[in-house]
Amino acid sequence: MATASIVSAFTRRQISLLEGKIALITGGASGIGECTAKLFSKHGAKVAIADIQDEQGHSVVNSIGPSNSTFIHCDVTNEDHVKNAVDKVVSNYGKLDIMFNNAGTFDHPKPRIIDNEKSDFERVMSINVTGVFLGMKHAARVMVPTRRGTIISTASLSSGLGGAATHAYTCSKHAIVGLTRNLAVELGQFGIRVNCLSPYALATPLAKGFLGLDDEALEQAMNYMANLKGTTLKVDDVAQRLFPASDEAKYVSGQNLFIDGGFGIVNSAIKLFEYPES
Ligand code: NAD
Repeated sequence: MATASIVSAFTRRQISLLEGKIALITGGASGIGECTAKLFSKHGAKVAIADIQDEQGHSVVNSIGPSNSTFIHCDVTNEDHVKNAVDKVVSNYGKLDIMFNNAGTFDHPKPRIIDNEKSDFERVMSINVTGVFLGMKHAARVMVPTRRGTIISTASLSSGLGGAATHAYTCSKHAIVGLTRNLAVELGQFGIRVNCLSPYALATPLAKGFLGLDDEALEQAMNYMANLKGTTLKVDDVAQRLFPASDEAKYVSGQNLFIDGGFGIVNSAIKLFEYPES
């Protein structure tokens, strides 16, 4: 086969990776969720964006095209909102194939636990954990009867590491792994796969707000600390790793996929592999 034909066959396969799939993305108005909505649509899926930022959500829909996407106002901490979002997707498109629980928030770091407010802790847990639980619950409600679907949630590097974020954020992201594993066990009998993703820090409004840095300063700081050098983690790199959404990942379930360039497995106190010139 000529090179051009191989390339075009590969491109066709990439484009059709999610052909006919229907996805609901919470936190789809910005950052990782926005990029994922655009990428899913490019790969052939129809996407519903559920978020509290209406204007930004509508603008993402406009850029994708209203025939392939829709915006649903949804606060993930409100069960009626989440139930309504899932029901709207099913009534508009006839099914839900991919639930991406991605909406998240952070609290500002305070070094001592005694200075942390219960209200901040509960707010973070409510969005990052209860929001994911509700997304999982209502996705399962419509997926189980059809015996198909995949549920993915955005955890974080902090799902497997202490000391990289606040107590509330770290706790919330560990909890997503627990929910993912439990639900993968419950829904395995129905052929429904459940996974989560754990990215290293990248420049989005959430991370910039957390660190108080602009894009460039954030990326510089993260590249300095990173294990993997010579590259910078971008929203595209996370969205591209959403392969558990496609049938290509048909036997992948219960996993927490780290997109951290190996950061989470490094003990930076040990310099065994430091080259003399570096
Ligand atoms: P972002 O701020 O660009 O996007 C977060 C989205 O969630 C926003 O559109 C926001 O409106 C929405 N949201 C917040 N509260 C909501 C609620 N109650 N109901 C519905 N939507 C709500 O940030 P992002 O970095 O793209 O964050 C997406 C996910 O990625 C989060 O779960 C975050 O914890 C996780 N994450 C981010 C990073 C990073 O460095 N950016 C790293 C690891 C994990």
